[in-house]
Amino acid sequence: MGGKRRIAILGSTGSIGTQALDVIRQHRDLFEVQLISANTSIDLLESQAREFDVNNVVICDDKLYGELSSRLSGTDSKVFAGTDSLCELVRSSEIDIVVGAMVGFSGLRPTLAALEAGKVVALANKETLVAAGSLVTKTMREHNAVILPVDSEHSAIFQCLLAAQGNEVKKIHLTASGGPFRSWPKEKIAAATAAQALKHPNWDMGAKVTIDSATMMNKGFELIEACWLFDLTPEMVNVVVHPESIIHSMVEFEDGAVIAQMGCPDMREPIGFALSFPARLSVGNKKLDFASLGALHFEAPDPERFPNLQLAREAFTRGGNIPCALNAANEVAVRAFLAGRIGFYGITDLIEKCISGASFAADPSAGDIFSTHEDTMRRAEELI
Ligand code: MG
Repeated sequence: MGGKRRIAILGSTGSIGTQALDVIRQHRDLFEVQLISANTSIDLLESQAREFDVNNVVICDDKLYGELSSRLSGTDSKVFAGTDSLCELVRSSEIDIVVGAMVGFSGLRPTLAALEAGKVVALANKETLVAAGSLVTKTMREHNAVILPVDSEHSAIFQCLLAAQGNEVKKIHLTASGGPFRSWPKEKIAAATAAQALKHPNWDMGAKVTIDSATMMNKGFELIEACWLFDLTPEMVNVVVHPESIIHSMVEFEDGAVIAQMGCPDMREPIGFALSFPARLSVGNKKLDFASLGALHFEAPDPERFPNLQLAREAFTRGGNIPCALNAANEVAVRAFLAGRIGFYGITDLIEKCISGASFAADPSAGDIFSTHEDTMRRAEELI
């Protein structure tokens, strides 16, 4: 890619989207923003369109189209509405890198469209790989597209693998912060409120991933994501709780050597690496001070208090469309927990019921994936 890299950000008003724009803001000479999109946050979308002089702006909720297009009239930005427009625009030859920063299953269709157009996709939307890993990786290979990980753990694994020199990977050590309830007894966790679960000790993220982090479903999803991205079996992925979130993950080789990637927890670092790969950029983050850190701690995850991790591992081992059902049930369960409709372990109960009731498709087509998602969402709502 000569000249400026031309970027599309799907989900530009969320946590990853705003941090991606912050990296770009610091390097306007290297990047230009061609496309941004949001579900409903038109105030922020409007100001991003103006600041970055973005050509194409997509509001997914079409009820807001009129308002946004009148606000941006008189600028160079063209406004579009709906996910279909997004899927069309993302294929443009004016785009080099697509940042997939949408939340949940809604990111799947635009991600597939970008891959079909052979784009480099900087993927933060792990749910697309959880729900449709086989379809997504197959589409990537067929169209010579590339997925670069943005999730901090997977960016870390990717960086460690650059040192592999063709040697086989023995194991991945996927680190987990343990979330806000790491040291809480089970009874106290059972009574936890959404507000308590939303207080993540280390990472500043959106609500969905923060709740997933508290239940450790996030780590289960990341295990599945790692298997698809790096062609691993689930047995090769060891999850280790590391409360400081300084080591972002590790790769172990045949001789027992372990390579770790470290940094202060700040998503701008993996985002910057994906945008500028293989170059490294300054991103305005805090740097590590080992002497003041003093010590790093590690412990095994507790399956009694955090059963969702095992649930995800089992779903991936069963394979087919079962991880898709897992993801759909989790989306409904997290929303219900945030709304105070179910308790913390109600999330696990709901997912278990939905998975055991799902009809199995061993090699799901795109149609199977979308119908599994819809059916499971409906079933989960009924069960609540
Ligand atoms: Mg992560």
